[in-house]
Amino acid sequence: MTISSAPPTSSHLPARQSDWALRVQQDPVLLGDIARAVDGPFHVIDPARFGANLAAFKAVLSAAGVDGQIYYGKKANKAGAWLGECARHDGGVDVASVPELVHALECGVRGEDVVVTGAAKADRLLWLAARHRCLIAVDNLDELERIAALHIPVRILLRVLPDVNPDSRFGLDRKQVEHALDRCTAESSRISMEGFSFHLDGYEVRPRAELADRLIDLCTAARTRGLPATSISIGGGFACSYVDEEDWERFRSGYRDDWFHAGRKFAKFYPYHQNPTGAAMLADILGHIGPRLAGTGTRLLCEPGRALLDQAGFSVFPVQGYKERGDHGVVAVGGLSMSVSEQWKGSEFLPDPLLWHPDSAPGDPVTAFVGGASCMEYDVLTWRKIGFPRRPAHGDLLIYPNTAGYQMDKNESEFHQLPLPPKIRLADHDGRITWAFDTH
Ligand SMILES: *Cc1c(COP(=O)(O)O)cnc(C)c1O
Repeated sequence: MTISSAPPTSSHLPARQSDWALRVQQDPVLLGDIARAVDGPFHVIDPARFGANLAAFKAVLSAAGVDGQIYYGKKANKAGAWLGECARHDGGVDVASVPELVHALECGVRGEDVVVTGAAKADRLLWLAARHRCLIAVDNLDELERIAALHIPVRILLRVLPDVNPDSRFGLDRKQVEHALDRCTAESSRISMEGFSFHLDGYEVRPRAELADRLIDLCTAARTRGLPATSISIGGGFACSYVDEEDWERFRSGYRDDWFHAGRKFAKFYPYHQNPTGAAMLADILGHIGPRLAGTGTRLLCEPGRALLDQAGFSVFPVQGYKERGDHGVVAVGGLSMSVSEQWKGSEFLPDPLLWHPDSAPGDPVTAFVGGASCMEYDVLTWRKIGFPRRPAHGDLLIYPNTAGYQMDKNESEFHQLPLPPKIRLADHDGRITWAFDTH
């Protein structure tokens, strides 16, 4: 068995990988055994890494002397394994639908540790959330009236429209916030107004710190009206790094359309190297607002999705065949580009896929793009011509590293009636890696 990264071509972009992922990929038989059992594409997940990422976020809060909660933004990956980790590490979950809420409860997350976001919440979702004492982030005034009409106790946050993003369709503008506060005051016997929330696009510290500062002001003002206003939620958008800085800079400065099959052009790319990332980014935000939070006794809530999944999984596709197209080739894999969601936003998932092959047969290096198993011309997992040490062949596997956050299952469908790729949870039992299907 050999695991091969691309020979360095000018467009190569090696993925950062965890020791866990490398150990699994270097095992001589493990991935081959799973591939035979599954007989199709699959995703490998590491719940322990998610748990460690969550624990790191929680540790940053306690180091700053700030009370609060970390809610996993569930839409980033559907596996049940993450929810068990949330329960185990005293974390919460951010949901937007009844099935997401039920899934969290089923996996042991308590209702009081769930925040319900989402722009258009069904009555059944509001009712179920209220019954389980979840926190509901209210996105419009109609929703607040529907909550009042439940006539049962409800815990809410008011989601604000950020000044830095005035065209957002989410949140309440200043006038709407005022009106909502009047309604919360009038309904205070049942509606517990626990604070304010936002979720910003992008991955920057400063706009988050500035808006959080305004939300602390809103909380202290709301308290003078007799509302609880204990908490602010700064949403998600914690950055991740998929590749090293030097590689990302070289890639960006040398970028050429002809690196891609058919000169394919893209609208934009995710910033595959960033700084600070994950829990360190939360620490930076707390560097700005930590003292004010602690001083005003305000709790900090956040809703990271992608950052909790960083290095917690990778995707594996069986190679079905290879053919030439001019000066490069095309690898056909079992599985669809829907399992690499970035391909569905006019973009591409850039960290290099790796060839895992059961033998170390020598051969001449080739470059090739990667096509999926459907009959659609645009079903392409990677348009970029990737360097391989030899021709990929039937029996090899193609590994896409670090795909747990949004890539794996956000866009998957049963196109061609192909089954969805299963998620395989790996665990370390006394130094031996065991695997199981993620069934919850
Ligand atoms: C999507 C979303 C998140 C998670 O965002 P990430 O970028 O994955 O951290 C958190 N909160 C809300 C309201 C969201 O819509």
